[in-house]
Amino acid sequence: MQNNVQTFSYHSHTNFSDGRCSICDMVRQAKSIGFTELGISDHLIVHKNMWQSPSCLVNQHMKDEKHIYCTDFNEILERFQRHCDEIRQVAKAENFKLHVGFEVDFFTYDGWLEELQNFLAQLDYDYVISGNHFVFDESGENIINLTDLPKIYDDSAIYQEYLSRHFKTIKQAIESRMFKFLAHLDYARRLGDEICGPNDFWNEKTAVLDALAVNNVPMEISTKGLRKIGDFYPNENILLEAAKRNITMLISDDAHHADELGRDFAAAEEKLQQCKIMQRLQF
Ligand SMILES: [Zn+2]
Ligand SMILES: [Zn+2]
Repeated sequence: MQNNVQTFSYHSHTNFSDGRCSICDMVRQAKSIGFTELGISDHLIVHKNMWQSPSCLVNQHMKDEKHIYCTDFNEILERFQRHCDEIRQVAKAENFKLHVGFEVDFFTYDGWLEELQNFLAQLDYDYVISGNHFVFDESGENIINLTDLPKIYDDSAIYQEYLSRHFKTIKQAIESRMFKFLAHLDYARRLGDEICGPNDFWNEKTAVLDALAVNNVPMEISTKGLRKIGDFYPNENILLEAAKRNITMLISDDAHHADELGRDFAAAEEKLQQCKIMQRLQF
């Protein structure tokens, strides 16, 4: 890796969730590109009404992906415990600094947060990341995969309502102070500029930044955005606002394949420097 470029990622996925490689493959690649440590952060997505989601109708594959989409914390506990153990074992066998993380979708229906906390208390993990991929109605009971919104509704007022709530949910997650850092703040840009342009939902996004500053929670700049929408998550205007608030940042690849580890880190480093973001997270 180039000098002065971050030599770790704390946001990566394996075939435990929707990544394509094993823990071992990820570690071997991390070593070969000169990483000094790696955080494995597979998805933890548990919502009691997952199978009632209209997303299951437009994405038939969801029902076959019970290793990603879950409905019951108790049901998945042993599988997650084994995963944590496996990461610890690979760290030992490969003599490499590994961290056990999870990327958690934050839900708001009654009882969910207590169930999550109770679940995490039974895992040998190191950290959780806030990464939100679902939107929901006011009750929080009925969810839709964010990227499915235009497949299910053809109504800009609904997009406005759901996305405004999406950003408020991210803020709520930050205020829970459970999360080590925030992933892809403006992931909603996946919906395209007509629904969520770089400067749309500006008040909601800056309210999230305020919450990050007040609660001293770092935020990632993700190079995955470059692969999905041709821009970083979050975009430069948000990064400039983050700089004003002195928010601590780190670079993520959100790797879903070993080949993606460290991808475009030099460009992200340059972007952070352009935006005069100095404070960096390292565990
Ligand atoms: Zn994510
Ligand atoms: Zn991710």
